[in-house]
Amino acid sequence: MIIMKFGGTSVEDAKAIKNLTEIVKKEIPRKPIVIVSACSGITNQLLQTANLAAEGKKEEALNLVAKIESHHKKIVKDLFDGDTQRFLTKHLASIAEELAALVNGVVVLGELTNRSLDTFASIGERMSSFIIHHYFESQKLKSFWVDARSFMITDDQFTKAIPQFDIIERKLREIVEPKVNNGYVVISQGFIGSTVNGVTTTIGRGGSDYSAAIIGALLNAEDIQIWTDVDGILSSDPSVVKDAKKIKVMSFNEAAELAYFGARVLHPETILPAVKKNIPVRVLNSKNPSSSGTLIVANPKTDKHCIVKSIAYKEGITMISIVSTRMFLATGFLENVFDVFHKYRTVVHTVATSEVSVSATIDNIKNLSHIIKELKQFATVTATDKKAIICIVGDNLRNTPGLAVRMLSAITDVNINMISQGASEINLSFVVDEDQVDDAVRRLHKELFANAGSFPEIFE
Ligand code: ADP
Ligand code: ASP
Ligand code: MG
Repeated sequence: MIIMKFGGTSVEDAKAIKNLTEIVKKEIPRKPIVIVSACSGITNQLLQTANLAAEGKKEEALNLVAKIESHHKKIVKDLFDGDTQRFLTKHLASIAEELAALVNGVVVLGELTNRSLDTFASIGERMSSFIIHHYFESQKLKSFWVDARSFMITDDQFTKAIPQFDIIERKLREIVEPKVNNGYVVISQGFIGSTVNGVTTTIGRGGSDYSAAIIGALLNAEDIQIWTDVDGILSSDPSVVKDAKKIKVMSFNEAAELAYFGARVLHPETILPAVKKNIPVRVLNSKNPSSSGTLIVANPKTDKHCIVKSIAYKEGITMISIVSTRMFLATGFLENVFDVFHKYRTVVHTVATSEVSVSATIDNIKNLSHIIKELKQFATVTATDKKAIICIVGDNLRNTPGLAVRMLSAITDVNINMISQGASEINLSFVVDEDQVDDAVRRLHKELFANAGSFPEIFE
């Protein structure tokens, strides 16, 4: 069995769905489970609808509902005729009614909770997957549509709910596996789930990759395929570096670091379930299916001379500097600092420390004022926003002297606020001003990938 996950651009219109269907057909002997995202842009529009409703802008919100409905109706019109077209058009209208009722509810209450936001957001995946299921059937595929909320059980941290693996495994074995074994192509949604009590949740933006990995790991899939709109994982974000190279093969560790530090192509949580079961992950291009994509495995064959695999970056970072002379030579300083971040459930991305100071970066500033207030009880604290982290990743970064010098000399005029090397030693990250990040990434790429052509087995 394999998992085939198709992202937003791979399901965006009738042409994309036809294309996806051809890709799935070729894999029928390997028993695919197909996991889809909402059509490109739809999740954003759904969240925008919710926010307009919360602001009391009912008419604008309902206009957006109509736009979302007509986007999907157009796909249905392009893909089907006759009874199926009528049936699906009615089905979409009833989901749009549900959405309009949600808008009314939020307008009346004047309040938008994360719980309601998840119900809004879930609609994109529900619409896209239902259309695709019917297209599969029209193409004589034996297709079985499952509502992911019947098996993707999560806790109730709405908008970033945590999947409950034990229950999910049991449900998958009950609901999904028998259908796969009976020769059905199972089609379901990424991103969405439900609490044990049946309340709709989502597992975080971009979370369909994670859904696919969870299902793949729990059902011991042979392969987890992430179909997207680029040829694979590239040596940097192609929207910044035009001549970024495709990476043919990389390690789980490298992919995890890249995802964590902002390479949107994979959701950061995706790799872990695959690592646990040692299931290869492939990133493939649905617009160019003959390309071999990027293969991510535990221990790829590697060339020790190839040091850097990719450069990722993450914007919207706030850097917090914490200095305490009182704590000089005292134990417990770091513990106190991290206790504060932990208390406010704020993830720290990078840290650099000395005996009396710590620099830390975060992107979730929801509780920043509380964090600063508490840190100020034992230290001098400054927080600066509009920063970006640049992260250079490669398994061979460890044991490679001189890289930092090469890197810094490529960007001598860029102000570097902080440098940190992760304990895994496969990433080197540093913090720069946000407005310098694109330029810095381009120059670093030019310097560090000048010899990429010498590694034809790694880059393409
Ligand atoms: P999907 O909707 O298929 O999940 P995403 O938009 O989430 O697609 O991710 C794919 C996008 O990630 C690409 O179009 C590309 O712009 C961006 N991206 C950022 N960094 C990288 C990278 N290192 N390699 C490939 N793509 C990247
Ligand atoms: N549709 C969701 C999002 O846009 C999940 C995904 O595409 O992975 O965040
Ligand atoms: Mg994505």
